[in-house]
Amino acid sequence: MTDDTLQRVNLLGLPKAELEAFVGEMGSKPFRARQLMSWLYKRGEGDIAAMTDLAKDFRAQLTERAEVAVPTIVKTQVASDGTRKWVLSAGNDQAFEMVFIPEEDRGTLCISSQVGCVLDCTFCATAQQGFNRNLTTAEIVGQVWLANRELGWQVGPGEKEKGRIITNIVLMGMGEPLANFRNVIPAIRIFLDDLGFDISRRRVTLSTSGLVPQIYKLAEEVNCALAVSLHAPNDELRSQLVPINRKHNIAELLEACWHYLDEQNGRSVTFEYVMLDGVNDQPEHARELARLLKGKPAKLNLIPFNPFPGTQYRRSPLAAIERFRDELMQGGLVVTIRKTRGDDIDAACGQLAGQVTDRITVRLGSKTFGLQVRA
Ligand code: SAH
Repeated sequence: MTDDTLQRVNLLGLPKAELEAFVGEMGSKPFRARQLMSWLYKRGEGDIAAMTDLAKDFRAQLTERAEVAVPTIVKTQVASDGTRKWVLSAGNDQAFEMVFIPEEDRGTLCISSQVGCVLDCTFCATAQQGFNRNLTTAEIVGQVWLANRELGWQVGPGEKEKGRIITNIVLMGMGEPLANFRNVIPAIRIFLDDLGFDISRRRVTLSTSGLVPQIYKLAEEVNCALAVSLHAPNDELRSQLVPINRKHNIAELLEACWHYLDEQNGRSVTFEYVMLDGVNDQPEHARELARLLKGKPAKLNLIPFNPFPGTQYRRSPLAAIERFRDELMQGGLVVTIRKTRGDDIDAACGQLAGQVTDRITVRLGSKTFGLQVRA
């Protein structure tokens, strides 16, 4: 292999230990890795030549062997409420999306973990698309890096939250993060690491449809907030809406959630519940849900359904959502209704579709649960 064809190492997303090993290989001391992380994550520098406190010959060596590669932006859209959506290229004509949601007291970046999804949740636009591939750690970390650059870095090295535009990260974009465990975990570590983006563990949320074995594994690996897509108070209905429930039922799922909190010293799990008109939004559903979660370290987040072309569902009327919330509150639960943001640019929950043209079929565990074979 000549130098020209040598694959450069992408510095973005490399765990600290690997970065140290890499600079060690070049004859440099481990603290160089820390300097590099500071340039990458604190200052958002993507040009190795501009990292001025690194020795010139070290920079030259680095430029030869390494790069800072981020996904290319295909399209940027800004909604009337200020929500921004970026369509990012995954190469080979595939695309995925990330969304920035500005609020008065915070700025949330919603990132993707996969191009498409294998779980076949009936009310989700991503599911209709099928699955193409897992995103790499660099592509996951690259979303936050890129959004920071797009929105304008406002924080100098050393400062913590002050002036930061992105204060919260949610893994609620395209894909099932726990089905891409290998790449998602190192990315979360970089979000939390004080040498990385240095975001508090309560402000990084992983949302899962309920891959029970991976929730146990997660408890051993990282300490972030957990959200779980519940969407129904009983197995019969949940199995229709979230087919992975046929493999891991509600009782198993809840046990895994409480285990996660015990292990991680967490305060509560947020349960997401999409409000589908006439399907899961009746007062008896609310009462059943209250019985299921009463006295548990749980918060409920009701999400008004966001429609997409071809869907069989309708959003529950606001009055029904409020009645549902009141019923749950009377049942002793903590409940919020999620504000719909960015729906005029299809940036709301469940509307992210990117572009998945080259679909492949993947087996999850021993069965092809909830999976439609798409050619
Ligand atoms: N795969 C992960 C994260 C992706 S979706 C998960 O299932 O949790 C983030 C949230 O949006 C999930 O709770 C998901 O169920 C919900 N969602 C999906 N489609 C939706 C839609 N059309 N309207 C409202 N919420 C939706």
